[in-house]
Amino acid sequence: MEERKIAIVTGASRGIGRATAVELAKTGYYVVINYNSSEAAAAETLAQVQAAGAQGEVQKFDVANADEVKEALARIVGEHKRIDVLVNNAGVTADGLFLMMGEEEWHKVIDTILNGFYNVTKPVLREMVRKKRGSIVSVSSISAMLPNRGQANYAAAKAGIIAATRSMCKEVARFGIRVNVVAPGPIDTDMLSTV
Ligand code: NAP
Repeated sequence: MEERKIAIVTGASRGIGRATAVELAKTGYYVVINYNSSEAAAAETLAQVQAAGAQGEVQKFDVANADEVKEALARIVGEHKRIDVLVNNAGVTADGLFLMMGEEEWHKVIDTILNGFYNVTKPVLREMVRKKRGSIVSVSSISAMLPNRGQANYAAAKAGIIAATRSMCKEVARFGIRVNVVAPGPIDTDMLSTV
């Protein structure tokens, strides 16, 4: 019997992450649904994954917290023994003109988006290299390429993901691992209602 394939989607409690989790479920993946603060919403994502005929689980961790991520991923890898797909989707905005931008707004966005990408991708990639298969898709943004007032922190973090992924391609393609970025334009989610 073919082993089930495992996908992890970060920030899957709402918005694009939830939709991605449900699409992966429709193609037969067991989906690990990560969330940070929206527990009930994450449970609803799991219900939608199950309604799509697949199985999954909810895992709470803050992608910006390196220790939390390490602990959670060790548990997930230990239990499932494989990770086929990682979708780095978790993200936040804290918009403001650069001259007015406090350290808190700068670090919150960089820590969640760029350091979160590093924290989650590294242990997953290690496991994928071991198995010589896997696919990582990270969600950047059109804001990384087209200038947008008030989004210096967000643009820097999202551009960082693109640049890091380009370098990683050169490192991991030979192991049969694909690393890609998608850069959506505006999508009607909670995130847009906060800008
Ligand atoms: P959203 O509806 O606000 O959802 C954001 C998701 O990220 C939530 O599930 C949230 O989980 C999770 N999250 C935030 N901080 C987290 C953390 N520290 N650790 C773990 N999870 C965390 O946003 P969205 O529009 O779906 O955006 C999803 C991704 O697409 C983001 O990376 C965003 O930058 C990108 N994007 C969005 C648009 C757009 O127009 N909407 C355009 C381009 C790119 P909790 O609620 O559980 O904390």
